[in-house]
Amino acid sequence: MTGLNIYYHPLYTDGIDSKSRFPRERYKLIYELLQESDFKELINFISSPICKKQDLLLAHDKIFVEKFLTNTLSTQEKRKIGLQPWNDHIIERTMRIMGGSVSAVDSAIKGSISANMAGGTHHAFHHYGAGYCVFNDLAVSAYVAKRDFNIQKILIIDLDVHQGDGTASILKEDKNTFTFSMHCEKNYPLKKEKSDLDISLLKNTNDSTYLEILEKNLKKLENVKSEMIFFQAGVDTLKSDSLGYLSLSHSGLKIRNKKILRFAEKRENPIVVFMGGGYSKPIDDTVLAFRDLFIQCALYAQKNKVI
Ligand SMILES: [Zn+2]
Repeated sequence: MTGLNIYYHPLYTDGIDSKSRFPRERYKLIYELLQESDFKELINFISSPICKKQDLLLAHDKIFVEKFLTNTLSTQEKRKIGLQPWNDHIIERTMRIMGGSVSAVDSAIKGSISANMAGGTHHAFHHYGAGYCVFNDLAVSAYVAKRDFNIQKILIIDLDVHQGDGTASILKEDKNTFTFSMHCEKNYPLKKEKSDLDISLLKNTNDSTYLEILEKNLKKLENVKSEMIFFQAGVDTLKSDSLGYLSLSHSGLKIRNKKILRFAEKRENPIVVFMGGGYSKPIDDTVLAFRDLFIQCALYAQKNKVI
């Protein structure tokens, strides 16, 4: 199959209650925009399967997993995750997001790139969820890649505006997985964890400064060995985002994405793209930025060239 495999499911939107403050419509809107775009033929939407419980247990505490799956987390534990009020589909939604990410690993190995149109749930820790993240799909996918595909060295590039704290924490003892997080200093989470490489940016950092710092750090990453790349491509770095404090433009973000794709291409590493955050108000800017990202990925998949 040619083109870009994107894992998607209607529950990405419908599994969040319509009364939730989370902008649940974004998934459906991005899907619709991509269906209408001239690049539609380059994308294969694949229904995200339900993740296997044993995959979750590679990165998460058994009791926490059981409590979530039986809907017996405490009110406090649920509040820490957010997305409330929880509807009847939140468990299936979560398991499909996790399944989408795990399946994207397989797809990327076979075809150089693949994506999940959700996920990048980097705030989830080993025994609890936080910040809209129940389980950590980056960590679970890293362990699945090692277990099922004999991929040992994974490089996680997390460019969401928020630090990848859960990922850094879960993978801190794993010397073969390198975690890089470039985020805004004065942003959630208040308490940062230690990634293998953390770059904290000042509030209101603009395109030129951001891209210069990214370039410098990608140079540093040239010394890190990897067989596969995970890209957490949050677009909450946009100036219009309501939860981020950076000042990137749409064209700045496209250059950012291009740099990461080019980086993966240069070292011939398969790359999995995880969606990450995006909370512009209204949501249109977020939706457009993600549409652009997935089109860039689709063109990369088609020609294996960076556009
Ligand atoms: Zn974020």
